[in-house]
Amino acid sequence: MNAICVFCGAREFERADGRPRCAVCGWFAGDAPDPDLPPPVVEVVYYLRYADRIKIGTSAHPRRRLAAIHHEELLAFERGGRRLEQARHAEFADVGEGGEWFTAVPGLVAHAAALAGGVDPWRTYTRWLAEARRP
Ligand SMILES: [Zn+2]
Repeated sequence: MNAICVFCGAREFERADGRPRCAVCGWFAGDAPDPDLPPPVVEVVYYLRYADRIKIGTSAHPRRRLAAIHHEELLAFERGGRRLEQARHAEFADVGEGGEWFTAVPGLVAHAAALAGGVDPWRTYTRWLAEARRP
């Protein structure tokens, strides 16, 4: 079908419960976002790689935030805010390089890969936004 998802703009649809559903964000074709609701905010912890280091930070506006951080690769998003970020900083404190940067040791790389689950993190984030917005 040639429809465009009203939520995320994707053109991939699958059938679920007998209805076409966006394959990217899970929004059902025919459902309209409530225009009176504010845009959904989903806080995430992000894992950004630059060379052999990984930055673990948090943002409620990752597109804006990540555009301002020099990096080579977004490894993963994890749903959560400041508390989860602090927990991850503590978890990987052994390989901390100062601030929010950590050495990209195999354990940390594997942690991020498991979070991403082989899916583009932006695609996962879009799905979370749609879930937060679903009527
Ligand atoms: Zn969609």
